Amino acid sequence: MNSICRYERVTFLISTRRSLRVERNSGEKMKFNPVELIVKKRNGAVLTRDEIKFIFDTYESGKIPEYQMAAFLMSIYFQGMQIDEIRTLTEIYIESGKQITFPENMITVDKHSTGGVGDKISIPLAPIVAACGCNIPMISGRGLGHTGGTLDKLESIPGMRTDFSEKDFKKFVKDVGFSIISQSKELVPIDRTIYALRDVTGTVGSLPLITASIMSKKIAEGAKNLVIDLKVGTGAFIKNMEMADELSDLLISTGNNLGQKVAVVYTNMNSPLGKYAGNALEIKESIEFLKGEMSPDIYKITKTLACQMLLLTGVSDNSSDAEKKIIEVIQDGSALECFRKFVKTQGGNPDVCDDVSLLPKSKFEIPIISNKTGWIKAIDSQQIGYSLIDIGAGRKTLDSELNYGAGAYFPKKIGDFIQKNDEIGIVYCDDPEPGKVVAEKIINSYSISDKEVIKPDLILKIIN
Ligand code: URA
Repeated sequence: MNSICRYERVTFLISTRRSLRVERNSGEKMKFNPVELIVKKRNGAVLTRDEIKFIFDTYESGKIPEYQMAAFLMSIYFQGMQIDEIRTLTEIYIESGKQITFPENMITVDKHSTGGVGDKISIPLAPIVAACGCNIPMISGRGLGHTGGTLDKLESIPGMRTDFSEKDFKKFVKDVGFSIISQSKELVPIDRTIYALRDVTGTVGSLPLITASIMSKKIAEGAKNLVIDLKVGTGAFIKNMEMADELSDLLISTGNNLGQKVAVVYTNMNSPLGKYAGNALEIKESIEFLKGEMSPDIYKITKTLACQMLLLTGVSDNSSDAEKKIIEVIQDGSALECFRKFVKTQGGNPDVCDDVSLLPKSKFEIPIISNKTGWIKAIDSQQIGYSLIDIGAGRKTLDSELNYGAGAYFPKKIGDFIQKNDEIGIVYCDDPEPGKVVAEKIINSYSISDKEVIKPDLILKIIN
């Protein structure tokens, strides 16, 4: 059974079991009435530890239905949470599973992105930093809202798995240098179920929920150091610097309170990252990156994040040494070899590293044709992310099936000049009708100026 079938079977079984259990338990006495807690949060009150624990644990055990949990998450989305509630929520997520530890002398570091369109950075970054001598235990996520997920991208490699036990994960991190796996029944199970529910209920962009989701995974996986790629702009959940500062404070204080060193890099997410968005297309782009064929934006952001990881861990004591190490492991092929070992270890076909045509492909290519002449002034990247879901690159419901080959090619960025009737990209799909609609939506997400537009900075701020 391939990985997507497995993931969907799991989510399907979770929902089926949940409704059965909810029916069976409807007469059972509960400590709190879920409706009262929904109303309490909806009205902006602060919840106690007991109340937060009750609602998340009881949902996880299948005794609260999805519709009540969705309403509760929406109340948090609109009313927010106090810092103590967020810390409590993070702890409850962590306590729902095991907490991994690594030997003191192992240099553990991880990176996590708050989510963007075309954001495949973890895929080349992890083998680069591992090849520089660090160990990266990465619990990652699937597509969320309009953004793609590292796990879905990896599972587009034939045979590749991300559902491993804690024991296997620890062994892979030691032997390969890094491992990327999903939340599971053993590891942050509450994030696994709530993450999937947020994805399809419009509750992703809540700062307390983002903080608990990210920090629980990052503490439970046992990394002592963490670099956050905080994406800001039209393709991110965080649209402006004010919101970014708020999230950054929450992530740093939650991490530090729970014993983790955290650095934050704010990066520009107004243009989709790299040249491709879509699961298998982004794996192809990542492999090409590790072979030295690099989009300037991916290179700049990967290098900056890797550099912060080497500085945070003390592997380098200055930026120029860090950059030298990073460039060396790309040029001498050791980062690519580390990626090949990772794919093989996690059940994937390592031959994709030599021949990217082994990755899934879509049947049709629909050209994206420019309807104006001028400089690209803005791109509605969120609109691009949502439109790609229409051709199967992301999920609409908990049991949506992914089309791994679907996605788009769009090499033009803010500041580039385009001519009317130029082919400025391609939509890859299995059904040309929705594919044409997506091509139309993508072109409409570009704003064009008749005056030259300066290319924006990619790195907006670093807190280390
Ligand atoms: N990444 C996560 O793991 N969780 C979120 O909520 C957002 C980004």
